[in-house]
Amino acid sequence: MKTFITETHQRQAVEDLKKLLAVPSVLDEQDSGVGHPFGKNVVAALDKVLELCETLGFKTFKDPEGYYGYAEVGAGEKLFGILCHMDVVPAGDVSKWSTSPFEPVVKDGFIVARGSQDDKGPSIAALYAVKALMDADVTFDCRIRFIFGSDEETLWRCIDKYNEKEEAVTCGFAPDAHFPLTYAEKGLLQAYLTGKGTSELQLHAGGALNVVPDVAEFSGEKLEKVKEKLNEHGFAFSDEGEKITVLGKSIHAKDAPEGINALTRLAIALSDVYDFKPLDFLGKLVKENATGENVVGKTMDEASGELTMNFASLEITPEQTKIGVDMRIPVTIDKDELAKKFADKAKEYDLTYEEYDWLNSLYVPLESELVQTLLSTYRDFTGDMSEPLISGGATFARTMNQCVAFGAMFPDTPDLMHQPNEAWELESMYKVMEIYAEAIYRLCGK
Ligand SMILES: [Zn+2]
Repeated sequence: MKTFITETHQRQAVEDLKKLLAVPSVLDEQDSGVGHPFGKNVVAALDKVLELCETLGFKTFKDPEGYYGYAEVGAGEKLFGILCHMDVVPAGDVSKWSTSPFEPVVKDGFIVARGSQDDKGPSIAALYAVKALMDADVTFDCRIRFIFGSDEETLWRCIDKYNEKEEAVTCGFAPDAHFPLTYAEKGLLQAYLTGKGTSELQLHAGGALNVVPDVAEFSGEKLEKVKEKLNEHGFAFSDEGEKITVLGKSIHAKDAPEGINALTRLAIALSDVYDFKPLDFLGKLVKENATGENVVGKTMDEASGELTMNFASLEITPEQTKIGVDMRIPVTIDKDELAKKFADKAKEYDLTYEEYDWLNSLYVPLESELVQTLLSTYRDFTGDMSEPLISGGATFARTMNQCVAFGAMFPDTPDLMHQPNEAWELESMYKVMEIYAEAIYRLCGK
């Protein structure tokens, strides 16, 4: 197959990547100020990548508030977006690194530094893919815009700001996940239900909303009765005399039906013993079901499967009851309608629904030109016929129209994102450059 990437491109890409990796662009809220909302180091990485883009012949723009920047080439109505981010997660325990995380080196064919895989390496690979097309005198029938976010690893304030202030892309991809590509990802809705408290029982169980709780502790007056009920239901627990711990199986909330929720098991036993309406919501209505079926009815679609509903935290004090829930909503389901059904049901148990966080779903139909072109390019270069993914971790793609996550990690690439000694194999990077160049050529070349 024809390749646009020369050895010069490969060499220069590595040189430029090193410059970017040397900037320790970790969020620093303490260093937040005018023009550098996420700290001076983060905006320095943004400045550095825009400077590189200028040198390569792109027109650039930097958000005066310092949230994002972009670099553009080509002409036309259509705006093709490549969604990157310049912030990185902290180095973590530096003693676990064999080299300094922000002093990039090439070792045994790998470039080693924080950000080499996530997401500076893939960003540079995509950038040089377009540079190679420019060098081959390819003209574009659209504008290609690299959008550089700077707060991806935490709250996505950068991309929210972009979407608030800037032109929406027509379609595009985020080089921030895995090949072949992710074309559907459920919406993520996190919420709390609150209601009155009780002095009958005290409870504080579960924790992070995106995890199925594997333990739930209880101690209280009616402990013996609760134990009896747990035994009747056949629920495992450890008995520490004055206290019991109901045992479950932890798993990521997106796979909630495959876990065992210790908290709902405890709630089932408790609602047999105590007469307290908010508790019945979990103990009598939800029970062990983690697909939301008992609350909102069976909810699924062909593109992305079934709704998941993970009840992750439960707090009962004399003042209030508070239940935390994480839902992954199939891509074609209307979130507001679903939330209303959920809220109405909760109200029957004297609970008030309150939205906490919402991340849009991602869905670009398999038969779309974008997905088909990206997929066939990947397959032509690799021979890997793996099916496209319907869940691959959240990327900026879900904040934009018709965007998917496309690479940059191959199925057999060791996943070192967020790990000590993060590194990316240069051969892998060069191959990604070729795939991106060809894909962009097929999609945007005249
Ligand atoms: Zn990333």
